[in-house]
Amino acid sequence: MLLLDGKQVAESVRAKISRDISVSLESGVRAPVLAVILVGNDPASQVYVRNKEKACAALGIESRSFKLPPDTSAEELHALIRSLSSDNGVDGILLQLPLPGGRQSRPFLDAIAPEKDVDGLHPYNQGLLSAQRPGLRPCTPTGIMRIFDYYGIGLEGKRAVVVGRSELVGRPLAFMLAAKGTDATVTLCHSRTKDLGAVCREADILCVAVGHPRLITADMVKEGAVVIDVGINRTESGLCGDVDFAEVSKVASAITPVPGGVGPMTITGLLANTVAAWKSRFGI
Ligand code: NAD
Repeated sequence: MLLLDGKQVAESVRAKISRDISVSLESGVRAPVLAVILVGNDPASQVYVRNKEKACAALGIESRSFKLPPDTSAEELHALIRSLSSDNGVDGILLQLPLPGGRQSRPFLDAIAPEKDVDGLHPYNQGLLSAQRPGLRPCTPTGIMRIFDYYGIGLEGKRAVVVGRSELVGRPLAFMLAAKGTDATVTLCHSRTKDLGAVCREADILCVAVGHPRLITADMVKEGAVVIDVGINRTESGLCGDVDFAEVSKVASAITPVPGGVGPMTITGLLANTVAAWKSRFGI
């Protein structure tokens, strides 16, 4: 069984991004700039933002943080996003989710200039993905595709099953797997899927993004399948994924661990998107 080490893949991709930045800076442009907006005091979100800032600094990307109180009004948040969207000194805008108090994020994500939408969640970028045209792509599914690429896992003609249809992970991942040039045959499952086990057992490539600890057990996995576990669940016994790692790793040919699998690739996707947005601004 091959352990798909996201940290190792992330290091390799980040080294490439770092070289790309150095070469691009030779043309005399300023360094890339990412604006990070954090509303409220959620401890997990604070950790995520700090990790993103550190990752940016390590590659020479300048991050500017905008930390707003939980009671920030919709008008104030919209005004900040508008001003960052039109600011020529900013290449990427990241709105850390979830917003506090169960506030809908959609109107704010829609307000981000599409060319600065480094999370790839603006409807314009979602449209480019579904049309298979170049654009800023969501970070987690892009990271998963980079894991396949790094380990030379061929996808053409494979049966891929994606469990979870979120805008953030499952849906864009299904588009990426089915895209021309990648050419997997994709089934997208969700909470209303009947006999999830039977569908999962058909998968050569099984990707799970649900948020349910150990939902996928060994009897749901075909012998030799490649298993990608996106889930991050905090349980009493610590952090775990959506896949029962101990048992499924006895059946799978390759599997991502949690932590250390998909997670490091998500931040890498953000860095790559920020640099792509920066390069496209300066026509590099
Ligand atoms: P979400 O809540 O937006 O979507 C969950 C999806 O799972 C929904 O489409 C729902 O239909 C489906 N679902 C729910 N119960 C199901 C069931 N019993 N069977 C089949 N499908 C079911 O979640 P999300 O934002 O996609 O995140 C999913 C998980 O991935 C979470 O644990 C989240 O923390 C994690 N995550 C990890 C990373 C990372 O970098 N590793 C990034 C994003 C999300």
